[in-house]
Amino acid sequence: MRKPIIAGNWKMHKSVAEAQALVQDIVRLTADVGEVEVVVCPPFTALYPVQTVLSGTHVRLAAQNVHWEKQGAFTGEISPVMLRDVGCDYCIIGHSERRQYFAETNETVNKKVKAALAHGLIPIMCVGETLAEREAGATEAVVGEQVREGLAGLTADQAAAMVIAYEPVWAIGTGRTASPQDANAVCAFIRAIVREMFGAAADRVRIQYGGSVKPENSAELMAQSDIDGALVGGASLDAASFSGIVKFR
Ligand code: 13P
Repeated sequence: MRKPIIAGNWKMHKSVAEAQALVQDIVRLTADVGEVEVVVCPPFTALYPVQTVLSGTHVRLAAQNVHWEKQGAFTGEISPVMLRDVGCDYCIIGHSERRQYFAETNETVNKKVKAALAHGLIPIMCVGETLAEREAGATEAVVGEQVREGLAGLTADQAAAMVIAYEPVWAIGTGRTASPQDANAVCAFIRAIVREMFGAAADRVRIQYGGSVKPENSAELMAQSDIDGALVGGASLDAASFSGIVKFR
């Protein structure tokens, strides 16, 4: 009932020409994918050029970050209105790299989530514990707080439209994937919190797993009851491996 969503987070990679070439290959290689939503998240500089290639295809566009104001004196920031203007349907919010290196907090994540929704962008809100937090047995406390504070003040309909990406920080870029069972347990925990906050919206919210997802492990991850997709980093920079993940069935 929930349509799987596989998104490629390109992070700070690809020139305009490289981005257009990559997305052309992705469109071609995933043309027959069927009931899976395919999303690419290029850097800001490549959003519009990529949109000119994607327009009219099955592949959707996402940004990697957004500011919460719609315009103003915020040097270096990009607003949700600007992202809609270049054709974005989705926006990653609160990625662990932004929390870690750019001081994003649950409070700023919540402001960004609300602003994105208000302007017609669907947030892909990232949550996840560090290795130290996992080893201290704090995974549920940390992830629970990120979800509660990130989604605070939304309506049930807004919550239902959300995508939440569970990305354990220790599995990002390390080659170390959470086991499908461990990943599913946290995704089920996240869904239970959404249910506590918003009732039946929990059955519609889509929850992705992220962290060293590859063509070799995507089928088993996607077969889990509470995993509705993947947020892919490294493997999304190559059209063949990203398409392999998208075609997990
Ligand atoms: P990797 O797939 O490279 O581990 O990155 C995951 C990630 O951070 C996606 O947002």
